[in-house]
Amino acid sequence: MEAFMDAIVKPVAGPGLELRRVPVPEPGPGEVLIKIHKTAICGTDVHIYNWDPWAAEHIKPPMTIGHEYVGEIAKLGDGVKGLKIGQRVSGEGHITCHQCRNCHTGNIQWCKYTKSVGVDRDGAFAEYVCIPATNVILIDPELDEDVVAFFDAFGNATHTALMFDLVGEDVLITGAGPIGIIAAGICRFAGARRVIITDLNDDRLELARKMGVDAAVNTLRDDLPRIMKEKKLTEGFDVGLEMSGSGAALQQMIQNMRNGGKISLLGISNKPVPMDMNTIITKGLTLQGIYGRKMDNWHQMSYMVQAGLDLTPVITHRFHYTEFEQGFAAMNSGKSGKVILDWSTKK
Ligand code: NAD
Ligand code: ZN
Repeated sequence: MEAFMDAIVKPVAGPGLELRRVPVPEPGPGEVLIKIHKTAICGTDVHIYNWDPWAAEHIKPPMTIGHEYVGEIAKLGDGVKGLKIGQRVSGEGHITCHQCRNCHTGNIQWCKYTKSVGVDRDGAFAEYVCIPATNVILIDPELDEDVVAFFDAFGNATHTALMFDLVGEDVLITGAGPIGIIAAGICRFAGARRVIITDLNDDRLELARKMGVDAAVNTLRDDLPRIMKEKKLTEGFDVGLEMSGSGAALQQMIQNMRNGGKISLLGISNKPVPMDMNTIITKGLTLQGIYGRKMDNWHQMSYMVQAGLDLTPVITHRFHYTEFEQGFAAMNSGKSGKVILDWSTKK
């Protein structure tokens, strides 16, 4: 007899989401069924909820969305070895081909054929999700599940922040969204000298202050070079983490880097961004695109948390999954950090 579960579904092309009863997926050969405990809402889910042009191009309804989660193994498909029912897990959301040159050399973050959970196939905003066993990440059951729920986003922040050396360096983060704020915590934790974050939204800058930044700068109002001087930055930033997707923010970053500085680009823009080529060239800047996570970032995340990195200040809202509308309203308000949905109890 077919079993059914609750899932947050994009039912048809257009704004909104619906809580529906859908069949529990059956793990095929090499796949694992995960019972979801907690999920977190990502900016991508908000694009899908709002049905912006990106969502209209990429999402094929009806489908279950969501890709930030923690749960436990509920069932193993044929041929899965080394995993056990009941183990605490999360999952790498990028399902890669395992055959291309990048996959073969361990650089799965650059696989050309990546498919994303909750975007290209059914996601984790449900009582169960099914993923390939190779994407399952074992999680220490002692870690706080509310934090593990957003390890996917923490992974983006880790990948971006740890791309270049941080010890004793001065770091500029543009964009104090959840990922920028998490990155600020990582930079602080990893030994940066100064961590300065910019945004245009005071609520988000306030959250960033809770992560222990040296300055949270509203660039609509405050003068970044003046604050740099106050914080004893004499030559500019050593490392830049672009986490806003704004061309204006990138331009400001390029202008305020020191010669030889290094920039990681995570923020995705919805339109082409003009580049100040001449400044990049004459300053000898390095610009590195960042996509997804490296598999090794998953270990780094668990270990950073175990070593004392506290990301709980990023969590601003917790709801039961049946209250998902409130969760998306919080995300759309621009006042939220991470929003957690609880799937571990029935209402
Ligand atoms: P978010 O949209 O919640 O945060 C972006 C922040 O940038 C907002 O707080 C916004 O007010 C701020 N901002 C806008 N213009 C700015 C400016 N001129 N200067 C400073 N700040 C400005 O996004 P998020 O969920 O934190 O993600 C960060 C970015 O990373 C987004 O662009 C997202 O699309 C992107 N992303 C990329 C990947 C990847 O694999 N490359 C993965 C996840 C997210
Ligand atoms: Zn590949």
